[in-house]
Amino acid sequence: MTNAEAVTVTNKQIIFPDYVTGFPKESDLKITTTTIDLRLPEGSTSVLVKNLYLSCDPYMRICMGKPDPLSSSLVPPYKTGVPIIGLGVSKVIDSGHPDYKKGDLLWGLVGWEEYSVITLTTYSHFKIEHTDVPLSYYTGLLGMPGMTAYAGFYEVCSPKKGETVFVSAASGAVGQLVGQFAKLMGCYVVGSAGSKEKTKFGFDDAFNYKEEKDFSAALKRYFPEGIDIYFENVGGKMLDAVLINMKLHGRVAVCGMISQYNLVDPEGVHNLPTILYKRIQLQGFGVCDFYDKYPKFLDFVLPYIREGKITYVEDIAEGFESGPSALLGLFEGKNVGKQLFVVARE
Ligand code: NAP
Repeated sequence: MTNAEAVTVTNKQIIFPDYVTGFPKESDLKITTTTIDLRLPEGSTSVLVKNLYLSCDPYMRICMGKPDPLSSSLVPPYKTGVPIIGLGVSKVIDSGHPDYKKGDLLWGLVGWEEYSVITLTTYSHFKIEHTDVPLSYYTGLLGMPGMTAYAGFYEVCSPKKGETVFVSAASGAVGQLVGQFAKLMGCYVVGSAGSKEKTKFGFDDAFNYKEEKDFSAALKRYFPEGIDIYFENVGGKMLDAVLINMKLHGRVAVCGMISQYNLVDPEGVHNLPTILYKRIQLQGFGVCDFYDKYPKFLDFVLPYIREGKITYVEDIAEGFESGPSALLGLFEGKNVGKQLFVVARE
């Protein structure tokens, strides 16, 4: 294509008007339409992509809150008045970057819009080389959540065969994989999730936390000898109950605390002295610190997928307009498996 042949098309966008306090509403995100030139300017080093699948992730709620120096070192706040940024699977339309050419597929940070112009930085985007698996997997199993489960479980939890593992938000994008990795390692795995349907994910056992009045009593039922590893996705009352059910020298990988993201005042945790008494290792981690291991992760996980030894449940909403409600549904537990939405299939 030359500049003379440049084509201008409409570009739907999901704009972030202003910072959010408390539970977000659909009206906190606005759909607008603009136009975009499908040809990059001469000399550009950017990549112009068509977004195919966009990912809904809990951390996006943190980005929607007022800029907070405590969280922004891990998750920078959104800018108001422009499309929100998320992870997606995209196809290259035009490229000024030597690593990408028209037709290539990639996953990484893009605007919530039909077409994005992206600037590549270290680990901001990954070229998709394996297309014998569903492309949507690069928003989940083979993307950021998969890397999170892999790094969090193998690198942070230091698991050993026969250990007892508890996973919260067990049916979600990250949790369902942590449970499967733990099973592959020969651990005893129990998950908690918010509905009966979500407790049928093939771990050793699982419970619906919404039906439990006393989380500690529930954990004692499944772990009479205690928990070696807790993969923390929810925080709050569950973390409190887990701490007093940990074994001596247990490990807690703090991946996320979704129960706290919409609260104006985060809940307190009462059982912190147990960390001392039981010499528990409690470690927060961010997937961004582990992306150098992405090729190793792919080598590890792709054979399991191809052999059917690792499976993945996705919750796929259809159409660009479904984005806001799909994202907000995460905070009501509406998703069963990895939540994403389809912008275009090719
Ligand atoms: P997900 O589990 O697919 O979806 C979120 C789930 O959280 C919902 O389906 C819901 O399931 C549960 N939930 C929502 N509100 C809750 C509440 N108040 N109390 C308890 N559970 C609640 O999400 P994901 O992508 O796998 O993320 C899981 C966690 O990992 C999140 O905390 C996320 O922020 C974190 N994360 C961290 C990193 C990192 O780098 N550290 C990377 C990715 C994700 P139920 O129906 O079971 O309640």
